[in-house]
Amino acid sequence: MRYVSTRGLAPTLGFEDALLAGLAPDGGLYVPQVWPVLSKADIAGFAGKPFNEVAAHILAAFAGDALERDTIDRLTREAYAGFQHPAACPLVQIGTNDFILELFHGPTLAFKDVAMQLLARLMDHVLSRRNERSTIVVATSGDTGGAAVDAFARRERADVFILFPNGRVSDVQRRQMTCEKAPNIHAVAVDGTFDDCQRIVKEMFANTGFRDSVRLAAVNSINWARIVAQVVYFMTSAVALGAPARKVTFSVPTGNFGDVFAGWVAKQMGLAIETLIVATNVNDILARTIDTGVYEVRSVLPTTSPSMDIQVSSNFERLLYEAGGKDAEGVRNMMASLKQGGRFEVPEKTLRQIRTEFAAARVDEAETARVMAATLKSSAYLLDPHTAVGVGALHSVASDPAIPRVTLATAHPAKFPDAVKRATGVHPALPPHLSDLFERTERFDVMPADTAAIERYVSARIAGKVLA
Ligand SMILES: *Cc1c(COP(=O)(O)O)cnc(C)c1O
Repeated sequence: MRYVSTRGLAPTLGFEDALLAGLAPDGGLYVPQVWPVLSKADIAGFAGKPFNEVAAHILAAFAGDALERDTIDRLTREAYAGFQHPAACPLVQIGTNDFILELFHGPTLAFKDVAMQLLARLMDHVLSRRNERSTIVVATSGDTGGAAVDAFARRERADVFILFPNGRVSDVQRRQMTCEKAPNIHAVAVDGTFDDCQRIVKEMFANTGFRDSVRLAAVNSINWARIVAQVVYFMTSAVALGAPARKVTFSVPTGNFGDVFAGWVAKQMGLAIETLIVATNVNDILARTIDTGVYEVRSVLPTTSPSMDIQVSSNFERLLYEAGGKDAEGVRNMMASLKQGGRFEVPEKTLRQIRTEFAAARVDEAETARVMAATLKSSAYLLDPHTAVGVGALHSVASDPAIPRVTLATAHPAKFPDAVKRATGVHPALPPHLSDLFERTERFDVMPADTAAIERYVSARIAGKVLA
């Protein structure tokens, strides 16, 4: 299996190199040259299989010959062994044909664990086989950082630097990043916003001298292996509801478009999906784009679903490339115009293609709170605010009542207790494995939003480690 860049100007790579590279050198994102297709019998065969076995099947389809089957089986088994539910990502019914796909049973209570636990093991395996080390720098608005800390804390081949905006993440989120004792984890509170953190990471990657000297790698949602891991739960949940004989609609709370793009990938692989609903909060750039064809960046508004408070949705580039008929030049033009003027127009044909597969809906703060309260009342089920955006989006998208609708639950309510309490009156308790989180000792450094200073900090921290 070979991987190409959405901007068409980078060399094609095998699975391992695409995994370690993250972003392509031409600024594009890696996608497989051809989509692996599963037969109806393959998909039907997922019924009743453990999550890790389905994950192994799907990873094998994308890794090609890059990994031996034994290795794939072992890494997928280990990745999901620490989940707090035996099904890893169980389905819960909340209405006649309405289901919640719980993706928050991993160590840090958000769906990011599903991909990060596997990604960390894959990277460690490949680095170890090559006898190399990497330095991973992660900018986070909250959930990605915690997921990366837990996933990499017991891996040997990488140092991980988490940059989070000082004072702008929830207490649970901060503690999940700062209470880890492993010596390869470095939490940095940056005096600035999430955008500052992201800019610093981009500048570090653009500084080739620094990038090469520390062997910088990326694990944010543009990393292809994360998308692969997320395809798995679209398959397992659809099969549980009758696929391949029966279609399913998914509502996906969306920020960077990684999760909902994984749903689109499942469809390319042969899964019968009726509609993929792109559910956004008031930071609705994706809903506006699908409505109007104009992708236009506005300022970010803080909401109760902060992991979706995003205005530049990186993974959308992958869909633009695919829906435009793999037109890399077209993607380059759109991205150049985005860089220059903060907007671009999606070509008519591409937009028409996108609208046949996706619907989009924007759910505001009042509606999000109303959905949390109403769902608790009607179904005795407590939603987190991100998931409530997904459930709320179902109300504004017409659908066939005979087709099951699955909303992805991207976070546990206890990760956002204040918003849940305000909307429902219920204070969600942390699950047992995190019940002592507020007694643990925090360890982090505060740094100015200054790329050169943070580069010096990183270099000093990894000094003396043999990188290759
Ligand atoms: C990251 C995140 C999202 C958004 O996922 P994308 O793949 O960026 O679209 C939604 N909800 C929660 C809780 C998240 O952590």
